Amino acid sequence: MAPQGEWLRPPRTLFIILFLLTLASISALGWLGWRLFEQERLVEGQRSQERLEQAADRISATIHGTLAETGDRLGDASAPANGVLLKITEDGLTSSKPLLFYPMPLSATADESEPSFDDAEQLEFAARDLPKALSFYRSLSASNDIRARAGALLREARVLRAMGRDHDAETVYEHLREARSVTLAGVPSDLIALHALCEMKIDCGELHDGLRQARWKLTRGQFEFYWGSGARPPAESLAIAESAERIWEDRAKNLRVRGLETLWLEGHPYVVIWRGLAEKRIALVIQPESILKSMPDGIHYALLDSEGRVVAGEKDPSAHGAVRTAGDGELPWTLLVTEAQPMTAAARIAQQRFLILSIVVMVLFLVLGTYFIARAIRRESETARMQSDFVSAVSHEFRTPLTAVRHLSELLVEGRAPSEERRKLYYATLLRESSRLERLVEGLLNFGRMEAGARHYRFEELDAAKLVERVTGEFQQQLESEGRKIELAGASAPLKIEADPEAIGVALRNLVDNAIKYSPGEPTVWVDWGLERNQVAIRVKDHGPGIPDSERKRIFRRFVRGSAAASTNAKGSGVGLAMVRHIVMAHGGEITVESSPGKGSVFTMLLPEAGTV
Ligand code: ADP
Repeated sequence: MAPQGEWLRPPRTLFIILFLLTLASISALGWLGWRLFEQERLVEGQRSQERLEQAADRISATIHGTLAETGDRLGDASAPANGVLLKITEDGLTSSKPLLFYPMPLSATADESEPSFDDAEQLEFAARDLPKALSFYRSLSASNDIRARAGALLREARVLRAMGRDHDAETVYEHLREARSVTLAGVPSDLIALHALCEMKIDCGELHDGLRQARWKLTRGQFEFYWGSGARPPAESLAIAESAERIWEDRAKNLRVRGLETLWLEGHPYVVIWRGLAEKRIALVIQPESILKSMPDGIHYALLDSEGRVVAGEKDPSAHGAVRTAGDGELPWTLLVTEAQPMTAAARIAQQRFLILSIVVMVLFLVLGTYFIARAIRRESETARMQSDFVSAVSHEFRTPLTAVRHLSELLVEGRAPSEERRKLYYATLLRESSRLERLVEGLLNFGRMEAGARHYRFEELDAAKLVERVTGEFQQQLESEGRKIELAGASAPLKIEADPEAIGVALRNLVDNAIKYSPGEPTVWVDWGLERNQVAIRVKDHGPGIPDSERKRIFRRFVRGSAAASTNAKGSGVGLAMVRHIVMAHGGEITVESSPGKGSVFTMLLPEAGTV
């Protein structure tokens, strides 16, 4: 990864355009993805609506069928388990389950003659002679007629209470409660006794249990009187009794032979399905939930009456779904069908993961593509810059020897050499400068050939020590004149390498040349050789400025010149190390550099030992 600053180097506009283009493409992709996502959501919405419509049709048909079937079966002897079957006949109303109270007048035993207690009551109320009245009632309670006995016991207890003998009264009531029930003035005797016990605050439990279980056949007035003002009777039983009352009262109004009605009783809806005429009618009272037994999974439904009250199911206020209104279907209610679990955003994303994934991958490709293009542009521009640096550096290298050659030639041609000695010196300089030029040209040609892959190597066995001595020897004269030296150190045993003598010589020469070039003012440069990691290592060491970490890799690239080049003002073209690396690699070796900035550098050529290649 290049340091941040490098990205902002010219060509900056190109990078900005590339960045904007990428941004535009990513935005377009994002927009496209969003549109697809939305479209898919709409389609899913439509699909869900279709599902709900189908479910609504199915539910509507099921309810309709169930209601019709239930109505048609009303005539069957047995009542459905989940409802109460009421029959209206000329004699009154009967029910498949006992009702808390009955709507019609209960005249069952009313016309049976009541035994007379006139004389005793005369004593009790008119003469207010309670003890006498008591003994009178007591004598009557020994009667063989159970109705007369029950009547007498009731009155006995009443007198005892009036006399303040509650305990005795309780015993009498207990007795009455346990005796066989008889109807006195249309009211069962045990009910009267239980009610009296309850009034005396002795026990209300049995009274309410009996009333709750509809033990006695009562009118609404009787029921309410005996129930008293305590806790409310069970809502469902009350509602069923009330519905029976309503059906009974409305029987004359409903002239249709079949019908269905929703009654709201005790805050709960009840469905009444009836068949038959007013005088001979069968009606079924059921809770609407029981009509809807098996419903399709995954949906919510609600049946609403004309006032919007929920007759059955559950109304989901947030979701929208399919509706069948009471008017357009065959249903007596409005049907509302909604999704049980409307799709959440997370579920939708999970469903669309393929789409999202593809877009993410495309964006990723785009970003990667842009990155690589930008990198290529940067490299190209860098190469272009380096090439132009190279041309100017090479021109500069050529200019100095060429100027010297031209100047000395002029002097010689014009015969301006002051002495024979000087002329010899000029010739020697001419020779040196022209061979420097030749080396320069040769070096560049070599590099060109190497780059083109046209360089052919001729490998032969070489002695490492001899190679080092040959190459360093070339620098001897120059160094001596500068008062500097190369120190050699090597393994005493001969080390053989398989190498092209000329190429490996160029590589080593470049390293030594660099070491000398980049450590001006330092008296010594070191070259040593030996075995390292089973390879022959030739190390060139100097005490120059060293190489910063950030440059250590780059300097092996062609045309790259590092900070040492600037700090030491050394001439060069930036191809030396590129050539070294090329050559060493062609020999199956490796070139490494260790350097601590400010202290110097060590370049190591690792070459395979001859015989192991
Ligand atoms: P040139 O020497 O012509 O610049 P090279 O490819 O030989 O090209 O070297 C590349 C760069 O590596 C040099 O410009 C210099 O910055 C750095 N370099 C090479 N050898 C040394 C060294 N011995 N000490 C410090 N820096 C060096």
